[in-house]
Amino acid sequence: MKKNIIFLGAPGAGKGTFAALLVEKKALLHISTGDIFRREIKNGTELGKKAKNYVESGGLVPDEIVADMVAKRLSEPDCKEGFILDGFPRTLNQAELLKKTGVRIDAVISFDANDDLLIKRLTARIMCRQCNENYNKLFSPPAKEGICDKCGGELYQRKDDSLETANSRLALYHKETAPLIDFYKKGKILFSLNSAREKGEVMKDLLKLIE
Ligand code: AMP
Repeated sequence: MKKNIIFLGAPGAGKGTFAALLVEKKALLHISTGDIFRREIKNGTELGKKAKNYVESGGLVPDEIVADMVAKRLSEPDCKEGFILDGFPRTLNQAELLKKTGVRIDAVISFDANDDLLIKRLTARIMCRQCNENYNKLFSPPAKEGICDKCGGELYQRKDDSLETANSRLALYHKETAPLIDFYKKGKILFSLNSAREKGEVMKDLLKLIE
């Protein structure tokens, strides 16, 4: 399946979770711009230094920096078999920059959930330092507190998942990212999924959409 898919949605809507589940079933590559930034920050690279303050305060990394990084990543040979782009584009300008690369996009899947649920999910979210697996203290806790079921890594709460920063990220989503829904609707490649439901149900619909 050589499909190039964008996962669109507010923070906490489930983009990362469903991308990880989908990758287990389909031969697709999961490219998360947030994961790339967190890795670069951890490794103290030049890109990480440029992105650190934006990422930790819940702001957006400037469009040119993100768009260059994504264009480079998408030109690598492993992307030829299809990919899920999770967390990019996040502004209309980024969508235009992506279009300019000439990379074909087959579908944009919008994950929809209300703000109250998103805040609940974000502030209870914990993540593995090693493999980036997501858990949620309320909805999907690990078997052993603080330890990743998958790789045994340490679980932590992202700095930007504090209540204050989560609220400002959501506001930023509504202002900068939500207009992309109309942008891709016009291109007739937008599909919406209600992600406020139980994981299995969302996954069933997602698989139907993709096949
Ligand atoms: P995420 O893991 O998708 O929630 O992303 C974490 C953080 O990385 C965001 O809050 C931004 O600071 C940064 N980031 C990720 N993707 C983008 C993007 N497309 N444009 C700007 N900043 C981004």
